[in-house]
This record gives sequence, structure tokens and C-alpha cells, in this order.
Amino acid sequence: MRLRLLSLYPDQMNIYADRGNLTFLRKRCEWRGIGFELTRCGIGDRFDPEAHDLIYIGGGQDRDQKAVAEDLVRNKRDQMFLAHEGGAVILAVCGGYQLLGRSYQLEDEQIEGLGLAGLETVRDPGPRLIGPVSITVEIDDTERVVAGFENHGGRTWLDPGCRPLGTVRSGYGNNGKDGLEGVRDGNLIGTYLHGPLLPKNAWLADHLIGLALEHGGSGRVELEPLDDRLESAAHRSALSAADAR
Ligand code: GLN
Repeated sequence: MRLRLLSLYPDQMNIYADRGNLTFLRKRCEWRGIGFELTRCGIGDRFDPEAHDLIYIGGGQDRDQKAVAEDLVRNKRDQMFLAHEGGAVILAVCGGYQLLGRSYQLEDEQIEGLGLAGLETVRDPGPRLIGPVSITVEIDDTERVVAGFENHGGRTWLDPGCRPLGTVRSGYGNNGKDGLEGVRDGNLIGTYLHGPLLPKNAWLADHLIGLALEHGGSGRVELEPLDDRLESAAHRSALSAADAR
């Protein structure tokens, strides 16, 4: 049994050390004796859409995001659609999340996105949306709270009928107005929650590992519980920071 992870643009899209999420996934697999393969895919590279169970893209500065957007559309669009249709797990954070949509506004310029999710990101004259954030999500008929940190100038709006990842408990979420956060479509998740999203929300990491292993042909895997005292403390601390807003 192994999890095949594809990391898109690890050099450009790693603001707030978003790649820590990958380390966390690796450790949780290794601790359980599950194999873990990491493939890096950068600007100009192509990938096999059937060869990966979990595709990850982190957040980025505006400048990096522009270069990445051009490459995504030119070199990776078809593969991303095929991977999504084939049920691969896709986790996209902040800048990466914005690029899943049709377009991303950068100052006066409109940058074309993948169009993989029904959303677009615009700017408004307000301040950046920064701070601790917590959201309520429902996964597998269970309601859970995901806690983290957000920092984005872009405001994301979902198309009617497009499902958010969750609803905002505290913080801003997609645009600071409609109370929605992120996007979810099958095994695709986009979210503004940055940095140690998975270490602070270990159950979400395990949920993604389970889906990815299933995609890789391992069937429904009952994941062995781990000693999550540190992770639970990290979750509580992120949640109390968000609740104190
Ligand atoms: N550049 C994007 C914005 O500000 C995303 C930033 C990020 O990934 N933190 O909206």
C-alpha cells in the first residue's frame, strides 16, 4: 500500500511553508507503514494524470502566481481535468486555490485560471483578509471544525450551486461577505487556510490519506490511530486564536 503524491510548483507555491502539509502526510503514512512517493512538478514539466493519488498546490506571492498560472493553463490543464475526473484527491491552498477557478484578478489584470472549479477571484478596495480563521465542515456526515490562518487580497466567489468546503465560524473565508470558505467538488478541496493546515487538523489529513489510498486501489482503508496529543494541542491553539477575534 502506498500513497503517490504530486507536489505542483513546490518552489513557487510555498508561502507560509505550505509544504509542511506534505511532510505531515508523509509522516502519517510512514508511522503506519504505508509507502509514500513524492513527485515534484514545476514550471515546464508535465505529469501523468493516472500516476498520482493526491495532487497538492500551495499558496504564492502574486508574482509567482502569475508565472504559475500561465504554466498551469499551458502545460497542465488537461492533466488536471483528467486527474479530477479519475477521482484523484486535489488539495489547493490559497494562491493555488484561486488558480483552480476561471480567473484571478491581479491589480487591473485578469489572469486566466484552470477553470476546474466554478469560481473566480476578484479584488476590491478593502484591506487584505488576514488572521486566524475557523470553519465548520461536514465530511462523511460528521460536522467538524477546521482551524487555520488566512492572508489574501483576492476575494473568491463561488458560482451558484458550487459547494464550499465549509462555513465561516470566525475570520473572513472566501470574500469576507458571504460566510463561505473554500470549495469542494468530489475529491477536490480548495481553501484559504494556510501553512500547517493539516498538522493543525490531523483528522483532515487522515481523511485525505484515506481517499488517496482508495484512489490508488487499496480499497477503503481503516487507518491505524496515532498518538495525536501534539496535533490536538495545535488544533486547540489555532481554534482559540480564531475564536478570540
Ligand atoms: N496572492 C494571493 C492573494 O493575495 C494569494 C496569497 C497567498 O497565497 N497567501 O490573494
